[in-house]
Amino acid sequence: CGIVGYTGTAGAAAILTSGLSKLEYRGYDSAGVALERPDGSGLEVVRRVGKVAMMGQALAAAGEIDQTGAAVPGCATCGIGHTRWATHGRPTEENAHPHTSCDGRIAIVHNGIIENFAELREELVARGHVFKSETDTEVLAHLLEEAYYGCDGKPGSHDLVSALRQACECLVGAYGVAAVCEDEPGVIAVARKDSPIVIGCCEQGSYVASDAIAIMDATRDVVVLEDGVFARLTPQGATFTNAAGEAVEPPVTHIDWSA
Ligand code: GLU
Repeated sequence: CGIVGYTGTAGAAAILTSGLSKLEYRGYDSAGVALERPDGSGLEVVRRVGKVAMMGQALAAAGEIDQTGAAVPGCATCGIGHTRWATHGRPTEENAHPHTSCDGRIAIVHNGIIENFAELREELVARGHVFKSETDTEVLAHLLEEAYYGCDGKPGSHDLVSALRQACECLVGAYGVAAVCEDEPGVIAVARKDSPIVIGCCEQGSYVASDAIAIMDATRDVVVLEDGVFARLTPQGATFTNAAGEAVEPPVTHIDWSA
């Protein structure tokens, strides 16, 4: 339902929580984030059924934000967040996004529906993947894992955007997706098909969201991502490639409406 991602110099949990709360009007049943621990010890996933505020409390308990929702020193500066409106699988914590690969090194958030998830899941299970949720989304985390780290003797790309490009080729359906990988710190890979995604960059870092309203406080100059264009966000900005992996430069749109 709602996606927010951030990589930069500021506290990610505070930005994701405030961004997700701006998307609450759309309706949702659960909320979650995946943060890259700044000490390099991997991804921290916090998910809660219910309000974004419940997730915020859990993030405060984890020491990522204070009681007012503000960043605390030493907190994570890269992460992705989601508010879920369940389509496949009940509204439970296990089914809430982000979803992770088997080894937990890759996390993704997804809006939309992956129509061929049942057959993909069957194939992935046959190749040894263990699923942790009932969602259509989780297949994408496992496909990304195979594309990134390799499988069946095929070498992995060890490049998050390339892996996402490869994984998306298997999908039938609609998706807006953002992914992080602990082996590529500070990078967020983004793709979409028939599901809105905007990307905005400023001095403080790079943002992705399913609705500009979530990032408008940071910047009003956004790239409205098109189907088949992939984005790579780093703290310094965003670069874009097409389905063939060639660099493209999508236009920047200035949002002049007031929220
Ligand atoms: N189909 C996914 C799920 O049920 C994503 C739903 C959404 O867009 O929030 O988890």
